[in-house]
Amino acid sequence: MTKEPARILVVGGGYVGMYTALRLQQRLKRELRSAREGRGGVQVVVLGPDPYMTYQPFLPEAAAGSISPRHVVVPLRRVLPHCRVVTGEATSIDHARRVATVETLATEHAGTGPIEVPYDELVLAPGSVSRTLPVPGLADHGIGFKTVEEAIGLRNHVLEQLDIASSTRDPDVRAAALTFVFVGGGYAGVEALAELEDMARHACRYYHNIRPADQKWILVEATDRILPEVGEAMGRYAVRELRRRNIDVRLETRLDSCENRVAHLSDGSRHPCRTLVWTAGVKPHPVLAETDLPLDERGRLRCTATLRVDGVEHAWAAGDAASVPDLAAGGASGAGGPGGEPGRECAPNAQHAVRQARLLADNLVASLRGEELKAYRHAYAGSVASLGLHKGVAQVYGRKLRGYPAWFLHRAYHLSRVPTVNRKTRILAEWTLAGLFKREIVSLGSLEHPRAEFELAAGTGRHPEGP
Ligand SMILES: Cc1cc2nc3c(=O)[nH]c(=O)nc-3n(C[C@H](O)[C@H](O)[C@H](O)COP(=O)(O)OP(=O)(O)OC[C@H]3O[C@@H](n4cnc5c(N)ncnc54)[C@H](O)[C@@H]3O)c2cc1C
Repeated sequence: MTKEPARILVVGGGYVGMYTALRLQQRLKRELRSAREGRGGVQVVVLGPDPYMTYQPFLPEAAAGSISPRHVVVPLRRVLPHCRVVTGEATSIDHARRVATVETLATEHAGTGPIEVPYDELVLAPGSVSRTLPVPGLADHGIGFKTVEEAIGLRNHVLEQLDIASSTRDPDVRAAALTFVFVGGGYAGVEALAELEDMARHACRYYHNIRPADQKWILVEATDRILPEVGEAMGRYAVRELRRRNIDVRLETRLDSCENRVAHLSDGSRHPCRTLVWTAGVKPHPVLAETDLPLDERGRLRCTATLRVDGVEHAWAAGDAASVPDLAAGGASGAGGPGGEPGRECAPNAQHAVRQARLLADNLVASLRGEELKAYRHAYAGSVASLGLHKGVAQVYGRKLRGYPAWFLHRAYHLSRVPTVNRKTRILAEWTLAGLFKREIVSLGSLEHPRAEFELAAGTGRHPEGP
């Protein structure tokens, strides 16, 4: 007679989801085998909307074309052969009943409605989403920078603007096409802008009528500094470096509206533009509000230092979705990093997400075996950021680096961190080839409409570039 295995449901296949499952796979070999053989044991189910984990720190390089989009994602099925990977989304969780309501690709296509997935242990790690504000026009014209789709969409879009500017006789259309506005001066916004500006400047040499100086790149930041992750002095250096490249960095400035593709800033300036990138912070994933688990005032899951959801049995969380006490605050490196509540909780970043995921898995295994749990403690080590090819800024363990050494450290650090030897090798090969040959500057925006040409031929559609 077969015996039902205990089920660990991991919601989210990002940093926390993937690293937790990897560790569980390593620590629960015997139990996972028993489950496969129908002898009880433990089954690990990983649920996420995509069958891959995205290594987000490489998105800016993917947008710039230095790394192919396929290599910034890690296929979950390949790295988690002993787990069940399900492509779908949890829409709500009833932890009192130990049931997640899940919409899978199959239920969505069949229109049958969501299914209920029972579990014994829950790891909730849906991460965060862009924190938007009710700025008029933002929802219609803005684009975020959190996913590989957004990064590649933005790359194609920027290159397409050069094509538009090059082929129009209308000075207003040309000016708007060549104006790129980025809102938010954290690493996502600054790295994305710096990498794309670098790429667009390089691409100009292939257009007979566009010079780099014709482009207007604007960074809008509400506070008086950018890149809080690398410390104040390096943040100031980054502003100087960007301004030296003719990038218009506007501190203590907000985007008031962007209706009809005109960015109105709080300093009174207005900028007609066809590109508006919103990277002004993140907020916890909205699915957290659809659970019966305790949330803090910011909407993150309230957790203990052992990564258990506070006061709840059999529920665990980590990463951007979790509010974890920062036990290292006040230590050598201070609080858990910018974006957290200094001295109180860990900031939402990959550095914490990866380490928390490993401890979460260890504590979950310990709890299954009736062993003692350990508390999470990590002093923020600092950060590295790229400002385009051969340019960067870093502060690591109090040491400040800038220019080429910082850029090199950024690449070396992330290469060492990106999961799997396969990905590391491919990325290294791409960087090496990029050093030997010129950058790719082709826009493949039409990939986003693969049926357009056929619909035109069949007479049922409209060419996307048509009137
Ligand atoms: C452009 C960019 C650059 C960055 N650079 C750095 C850096 O240099 N250093 C650093 O420390 N941090 C960096 N970060 C932040 C870092 O990537 C995040 O802190 C980290 O990804 C958090 O891990 P997570 O597992 O909590 O969330 P994620 O990695 O975002 O994973 C969440 C996963 O859950 C899935 N999910 C969402 N909703 C559901 C649902 N309802 N059901 C099932 N699954 C769901 C999502 O699709 C996603 O796969 C960067 C972020 C961005 C966007």
